[in-house]
Amino acid sequence: MAIKKRVIDYTKYMCKKCGFLYDPKYGDQESNVNPLTNFNEIPDDWKCPICNSDKTDFEVFTHL
Ligand SMILES: [Zn+2]
Repeated sequence: MAIKKRVIDYTKYMCKKCGFLYDPKYGDQESNVNPLTNFNEIPDDWKCPICNSDKTDFEVFTHL
């Protein structure tokens, strides 16, 4: 029997408007997003804690 494992990908997302960085390792405790929550698991009505932008204003943050 296959055991379903929840995968945390630790992809960080950055707000395009204010530069706020969402890190799945820490979540967003002020908005009741638990640590180890992938960005795509955050409710769609979540807003940037700094500038109140929608999730759609975030993009994948990559270290170059
Ligand atoms: Zn923002």
